[in-house]
Amino acid sequence: MATAYWCIVEDDRKGSPKKVMAEVLGEAGRLAGANVEAVWLTDKASDEGIKQLGAWGASKVWVLENAAFAPYMGEVWVPALAELVAKESPKAIFAPVTSRMREFVARLAARLGAGLSADSVALAMEGDALVATRPVYAGKLLAKMTWAKTPWIATLRPNVFKPAESAAGKSAQVEKPSVKIPAARMKLVERREEVSTGLPELTEAEIVISGGRGMKGPENYVILEDMGKVIGAAVGASRAAVDAGWRPHRFQIGQTGRTISPKLYLGFGVSGAIQHLAGMRTSKIIVAVNKDPEAPIFKIADYGIVADLFEVVPALTDEFKRLLDKS
Ligand SMILES: Cc1cc2nc3c(=O)[nH]c(=O)nc-3n(C[C@H](O)[C@H](O)[C@H](O)COP(=O)(O)OP(=O)(O)OC[C@H]3O[C@@H](n4cnc5c(N)ncnc54)[C@H](O)[C@@H]3O)c2cc1C
Repeated sequence: MATAYWCIVEDDRKGSPKKVMAEVLGEAGRLAGANVEAVWLTDKASDEGIKQLGAWGASKVWVLENAAFAPYMGEVWVPALAELVAKESPKAIFAPVTSRMREFVARLAARLGAGLSADSVALAMEGDALVATRPVYAGKLLAKMTWAKTPWIATLRPNVFKPAESAAGKSAQVEKPSVKIPAARMKLVERREEVSTGLPELTEAEIVISGGRGMKGPENYVILEDMGKVIGAAVGASRAAVDAGWRPHRFQIGQTGRTISPKLYLGFGVSGAIQHLAGMRTSKIIVAVNKDPEAPIFKIADYGIVADLFEVVPALTDEFKRLLDKS
C-alpha cells in the first residue's frame, strides 16, 4: 500500500533547495512521520542540497537529474514525473506555491487524473482522510476539501506551515531512477534575469513592505527600500502602483499578483481593496499607514496609523535603525 509523502523540490536553479522546502518537508513530516521523501527534478543536484533535504526530514531523495530539466518546461517535467508516480504510487504529493510549481503541479494532477488542493493554508488528517483548507473567492472564505483517491496532491502557501528544524545528523537515502525524457516542443530563446534589488524575494520574505498609490510616484519607493534594507524586508506594491508603471508586475501583491503570507506586512498608502487583500490577508501581523481613517485596510489591520506616510516612513526607519543598532 502506498505510504510515501513526496515533496517536490523547488530550488534556486543553482543546485540548492529553496528554504520554503523546510516548510513543505516539515508539514509532510508532521502528517507522515518518517514516510517523507523528496523528489528533485533538476539539471544539477548538489550533494549539499541532498544533505539539506535529509536534514529537513526526507528519508529518501529521488534525484531525477538531466540537462533537459533546465529551463523548466511543463511538457518535459510532467511525463517524466508521471512515469515515476505510476511506478511508485506515492500516497501524497506536496510542493510549495512558487511560479513554476503552481503550473507544474496543476499539470501533473491533470495528467494523473488526481485531485489538487492549490494554495493550501492548512492540512490535517481526519480519520484516514487528508483534509486541506484553501482560500476561495479572493480569500473571503476558506474551503475545506478532501480527495476521493490517492495521490493527494497539494501546493502549500509559503510562510504558513511550520518549517522543519534542520537536523544535521539526519541523512537521506538517494535514489536515481531512470525515466523517459520526452523531447520538448518548445525552445527557450532568451532568458533575462531581473536586476536584483538586494532585498529578499517577495513570496519568501518574513517581512513585506507594500507601497500603494499613496506613494505618489516611482521615485518615492526609495524610502521603502531604505526601510527594507534596515529590517530585511521585501518591497511590494499594489496594482494601482504597478499599473501606473511605478513598479514591475513581479512586485504586485494581490489577486492578479503574488500571494504573500509574511510574519509582518507593512502597508503604506494602500487603501485595502479586496483584490489586494486577497494576496496578503493571511499575513500574521498587518500594519497600515494611511491618511484616510476610513480606508478599508484598517478593518483587517492589527495596528493602524492615520497619518501621512511621508512623515511616518522616515521616522519608523530611524527608529528601526536605532533599535537594531544599524545607524
Ligand atoms: C480583476 C481585478 C484584479 C485586481 N487585482 C489586484 C491585485 O492583484 N492587487 C492589487 O493591489 N489590486 C488589484 N486590483 C485593483 C484594486 O481594486 C484597487 O484598485 C487597488 O488595489 C488600489 O490600489 P491602492 O490601494 O494603491 O490605491 P488607492 O485605492 O487609490 O489607495 C491609495 C491610498 O493611499 C492613501 N494615501 C494617499 N496619500 C497618502 C499619504 N501621503 N500618506 C498615507 N496615505 C496616503 C489614500 O488615502 C488611499 O487610501 C484589481 C482589480 C480588479 C478589478
